[in-house]
Amino acid sequence: MEKHFDPNTARAKWNRAWEEAHLFTPDAGTAEREPFVIILPPPNVTGVLHVGHVLGNTVQDHLVRWKRMKGCDTLWIPGMDHAGIATQKVVEDALLKGGKKRAEMTREEFLEHAWRWKEERHGVIVEQLRDLGCALDWTREAFTLDEPRSRAVREVFVRLYEKGLVYRGDYIVNWCPSCQTAISDEEVEYKEKQSHLWWIKYPTSDGGHLVVATTRPETMLGDTAVAINPEDAEKQHMLGKTATLPLVGRSIPIVADEVVEKGFGSGYVKVTPAHDPNDFQIARRHDLPMVVVIDRSGRMTAEAGEEYAGLDRFACRKRVVEALEAGGYLVKVEPYQHAIGHHDRCGTVVEPLLSREWFVRMEPLAGPAIEAVERGEITFYPERWRNVYMSWMRNIRDWCISRQLWWGHRIPVWYCPEGHMTAARTDPQACGTCGSRAIRQDENVLDTWFSSWLWTFSPMGWPDENSPDLARYHPTSALVTGYEIIFFWVARMIMASLEFMREVPFRHVFLTGIVRDGKGRKMSKSLGNSPDPLDIIERYGSDAFRFTLSMLSPPGKDVLFDESKLELGRNFVNKIWQASRLVMAAWEKREADPFTTASGSGSASAFAAAWRRSYGSELAFEPDFVWEDRWILSALDRCAAEVDADFTAWRLNDGTARIYEFFWHEFCDWYLELAKIRLYREGDRRTVLAVLLFVLGEAVKLLHPLMPYVTEEVWETLPMARDFLLRNPYPVGASGLADPAADGQMALFQSIVTAVRNIRAQYNVNPGARIAIRVRTPAGGQGAVETAVDGIRQLARIDAIEIGPDVKKEKGSAAVPIGEYEVVVPLAGVVDLEAELKRLATEKARIEADLGRVSSKLGNENFVARANPEIVEKERDKQARLKTELEKLIESISIIESD
Ligand SMILES: [Zn+2]
Ligand SMILES: [Zn+2]
Repeated sequence: MEKHFDPNTARAKWNRAWEEAHLFTPDAGTAEREPFVIILPPPNVTGVLHVGHVLGNTVQDHLVRWKRMKGCDTLWIPGMDHAGIATQKVVEDALLKGGKKRAEMTREEFLEHAWRWKEERHGVIVEQLRDLGCALDWTREAFTLDEPRSRAVREVFVRLYEKGLVYRGDYIVNWCPSCQTAISDEEVEYKEKQSHLWWIKYPTSDGGHLVVATTRPETMLGDTAVAINPEDAEKQHMLGKTATLPLVGRSIPIVADEVVEKGFGSGYVKVTPAHDPNDFQIARRHDLPMVVVIDRSGRMTAEAGEEYAGLDRFACRKRVVEALEAGGYLVKVEPYQHAIGHHDRCGTVVEPLLSREWFVRMEPLAGPAIEAVERGEITFYPERWRNVYMSWMRNIRDWCISRQLWWGHRIPVWYCPEGHMTAARTDPQACGTCGSRAIRQDENVLDTWFSSWLWTFSPMGWPDENSPDLARYHPTSALVTGYEIIFFWVARMIMASLEFMREVPFRHVFLTGIVRDGKGRKMSKSLGNSPDPLDIIERYGSDAFRFTLSMLSPPGKDVLFDESKLELGRNFVNKIWQASRLVMAAWEKREADPFTTASGSGSASAFAAAWRRSYGSELAFEPDFVWEDRWILSALDRCAAEVDADFTAWRLNDGTARIYEFFWHEFCDWYLELAKIRLYREGDRRTVLAVLLFVLGEAVKLLHPLMPYVTEEVWETLPMARDFLLRNPYPVGASGLADPAADGQMALFQSIVTAVRNIRAQYNVNPGARIAIRVRTPAGGQGAVETAVDGIRQLARIDAIEIGPDVKKEKGSAAVPIGEYEVVVPLAGVVDLEAELKRLATEKARIEADLGRVSSKLGNENFVARANPEIVEKERDKQARLKTELEKLIESISIIESD
């Protein structure tokens, strides 16, 4: 084996090998197995892989590889999202740089550019997914805008249209004046902004006046009523009267409606139906006219009056306020903080506008989706997201699906001059109602999510009901995605699948957290705090990257990530490599093979049986185990069982940490250190080699779903390994190798070695010095220590060791009790007691001084009350730590002084 593992070479090598073996495509050999299916949340073609994707993809790959090794027929389907508005903007910007404006192009010309651009991006994203090690079946790749998906989208639209579940209507939509398109509620991002509240006086028909408060005074030009809360007793007498709109002169009714908040402003609310969603609802209930005063580019319309027509909405705000003030209508202006909706893509303030758009009626679709989750057909991890889902579904609103874009699925509806609408699966030649041939297709396209909400079944051949993939692989097993798209995507997929497939889209939803930087900020381009994952892969390797993210990510919790944390993964990869080299060096120097491919020669022992099950070959000899061999096999068995339980319960991070603990601490720190003693000792070496090979082989299997490259590379060199790791069974424990007696023996051994090491550290004993110790044992407990003497000598650097119930404990000896045992280390002769006493005294004085400072700080009420609680907490921790140190020092000193 090479001295160092080179992740880049290994990545290229295994990507090629896996692909040539069609390892990720189900084949006939897997047909009898239980399917395990995941669809990749399709990355946007505009996107570059960011650290958040790496987390999601790592989790999915982990599950897929693990399930495959557990014997499932796994399928992970890749695809990409055409990302309507995002892509169109990027392509427009790119064209603009070349001096071309979209407005000067035909639809067809523009789309040609967009497709070309998509092809370029596509290749990059494929490379990124591959380099992360994703076990995706590329033969089934789908794109939300390709031909088969277009067929699915049209089928869905027309079916919903025929059922009356899509409709065209005037509605208040969120309009982005900059992108020139309607956007859905979920695309509006609310930001708290400092603004003003303007209090305006409206004269009333009884000769008095009322006062309304607004954050958008320019919209008063479009008011068509004033509303009060129906329970507002003081204002009941105003119902039926009218108010006169200042600057405009229009007479408007005063109505009662329950959406009016009782505590807000004066209790009178201006109603602008064409520019506010609540007011729009009021207008519908009270049959009020809708006056549009702001147009689609954010400018005032002719309806706003000559004064204001053509003005930008914010310029108009100024003019209206000036005019109100001049006319004596402005009562007061207050500073006011409130949430203002912005388009999440471009940051423009969203304008609620009355617009003729296409909608999906969501309530009828939401019902079954609520029931399916209530019946437990879909489970959420972590479970709290179930409630978030439920509350959104119970308050669901209709979904605006039309977008004023070119890049997307064009709405499959044709209009004739008579105003008839024809919705069709294939482009019609004539109006379905009157037969007119003068038809034209709707100019708009569908929201991107209208194709991605079909994403569990559209990549499997739907609407072709006979598709074998649909029959075998739907519903999918699990969906892994970020919690921020529960509404955009997860909920809608559940609704679509229940409507069109009559079954849930997936059984489990696993929600990952958001990856944030070390300061807790969301990674973003503008902050420049998102490292480039490809760069990280290049420098640290995919395995290190994947492993680090797995360790850091409890399900559904946000992850604080900075590059320094990658050391964890990189060090672990090195540890695996170095341990493997040690084992392989022993293999190279073997005198006799520990195993053979000749059948029938193996023994009946549990180890021989486990070997046969794991590697399909026979142990060639009867191993002569000592307690540490039996212990590591027992520890491996325990680790495998615990990891299986963790992964099964979706605690991927816990299982990951468990394997790490096993490999680094149990295998490398203890077993390998002990094995080194016997590895080149006649009579022992073949047994030790067999155990090392077995444990390393099982360990790389356990690690494979986390770190596919380094494990495959190690596996390939193991003499008993067959085929790719993915085609080998995953260890699950219950191997017959559990051994409680060996576990107990190991616990005693570890306690003794640790006790000696602690004493050595406490008294500053030269790390190279060999010392003498005594172990006091209970009657009959001598054997347990004697059997471990070689190990104790080696790992604790001991030369002489006395064992027995009657060993002496002279004055000046450090001692540590371990249950019924006691470790005694005579210090005289080992430590220069006088110098040590001096050192300890100096140390004690320093700690006492520190402790005095911290204690007086904490005794100061002023400090405790005023300082940042985090700092106070830190000081308290420090105080506790110093107290413990001081106690230890006093104990150390008393042992020496007792001499
Ligand atoms: Zn926008
Ligand atoms: Zn017609």
